[in-house]
Amino acid sequence: MADKSKILIIGGTGYIGKFIVEASAKAGNPTFILVRESATKHPEKSKLINNFKSLGVTILIGDINDHESLLKAIKHVDVVISTVGGELIADQVKIIEAIKEAGNVKRFLPSEFGTDVDHTNAVEPAKSVFAGKASIRRAIEAAKIPHTFVSCNGFAGYFLPTVGQMDTYTAPREKISILGDGNPKVVMVKEEDIALATIKAVDDPRTLNKTLIFRPPGNTLSFNEIVSIWESKIGKTLERTYVSEEQLLKNIQEAPFGLSIVWSIMHSVLINGDGTNFEIEPSFGVEASELYPEIKFTSIDEYLAKIA
Ligand code: NDP
Repeated sequence: MADKSKILIIGGTGYIGKFIVEASAKAGNPTFILVRESATKHPEKSKLINNFKSLGVTILIGDINDHESLLKAIKHVDVVISTVGGELIADQVKIIEAIKEAGNVKRFLPSEFGTDVDHTNAVEPAKSVFAGKASIRRAIEAAKIPHTFVSCNGFAGYFLPTVGQMDTYTAPREKISILGDGNPKVVMVKEEDIALATIKAVDDPRTLNKTLIFRPPGNTLSFNEIVSIWESKIGKTLERTYVSEEQLLKNIQEAPFGLSIVWSIMHSVLINGDGTNFEIEPSFGVEASELYPEIKFTSIDEYLAKIA
């Protein structure tokens, strides 16, 4: 068997990044992470970094704003995965520049991990955020850097613990609020499964210069179906309130930025059905559960059974 690719993760101490680092190391890929000095002094992040070290991960101190550290880190590896957060999406042009200069990278996965930004009809402010990710796609293509765009759709851990309720930290047991009519299909995938498929994709010729789109059947359901599953798990019928699109659009306009981002993404996913309302054409995409039947994706049903 060919040697496993050496992988650099930029943003490995972040929410989705930590799952990717762990999956990479556990799959036997020599794994490196670019870590800011500040993270090594942070109480929680330093624990995470120590856990990475125990898995054999090599820690490289650097910053995407420090070109030399970035270039040096990239020269160690074959594959670069960026999992930087939303505020750093545009700054990934610095990673693109360093990859061009280094000349050794066989695959780059920019920070995506959400909706397929080439197939979305989002309203502002999500529209601009998605456009920012799309312009990084275009810059990677223009630079002819081999790539895979990971469109995993929703993180289960963000949505399912509260069954999509944004104003609480616990799952509803009396009432539930549903955006729109609850009929469009949405996709929610467990973070560990996203990470497993992402790591498989880095060495897979079928994902080269393609978007890896997640739609496992057990993770692709309408919100109404998700609510019914939840009701069956808790043995109770909830009082359902439907929020009209008009009301949601008004809320988005009146909310502070942080909240308006979340609501505009919810609008795109739950009302437009942007995660599922297009065909995955072979010219641009491949579906993760079809490509990797060996991954047992935790279904929404199984996820909800655990938290009931
Ligand atoms: P986080 O904000 O949790 O993590 C960001 C990471 O970037 C951290 O490791 C942070 O390091 C690192 N970082 C920040 N600044 C720098 C820098 N200057 N140099 C190097 N590293 C830096 O990110 P998320 O996991 O929330 O987001 C990752 C992706 O996932 C994004 O594209 C986001 O849009 C998407 N996402 C998708 C969701 C979904 O449901 N599909 C939900 C949420 C996000 P440090 O630890 O030092 O701060």
